[in-house]
Amino acid sequence: MPAPSRSVCPGCGLELDDVDGPTHDYIGASPACWKLYGQVLARDYGEYGMPEEHKFVVDAYAIQHPGENEPRARQSVGVHLIRLCLMLERNKPQRYATALMTRATHGGLHVPWFDPVTPLGNITVADVLAAKDKAAHIAASRAWAEDQWAAWSGQHEIVRRWCDALEAQLPDYTPGEDS
Ligand SMILES: [Zn+2]
Repeated sequence: MPAPSRSVCPGCGLELDDVDGPTHDYIGASPACWKLYGQVLARDYGEYGMPEEHKFVVDAYAIQHPGENEPRARQSVGVHLIRLCLMLERNKPQRYATALMTRATHGGLHVPWFDPVTPLGNITVADVLAAKDKAAHIAASRAWAEDQWAAWSGQHEIVRRWCDALEAQLPDYTPGEDS
């Protein structure tokens, strides 16, 4: 049997054996990388009982695979950066961060195209998948999110301004309500 052909994921840069499979409409991942992501999600949904750090996985993957310059792809990168900023820099509970992210999405946040650096960051879905147990998985999920947030440092300023505006719309929020 000939060796399978390989391809490089346009987002994270992972080189993997080609697979025949679906990809996402606007998240710019190879089918092989998308399949690994599905396996990581299955662990969060299944054996790991949906840890808080699940959001880190979703955000990290989305911004590491920014896709092409079209509105849905740009907005996806923008709102996932918002949630990471709120959770990582402002230490907000994920439910609160998700509420603001949803607000940004429905509010029609205008996100310019950010030229991504390729490959983006140093940690990929393969590293998270390699985690041997729940504790390692959670640590890898957080490390991946932090690495991605750092990789997008050129956008931190604009993302912080978006977060300021969103938080200003929720003056009556008290910590704990959403956690
Ligand atoms: Zn990838």
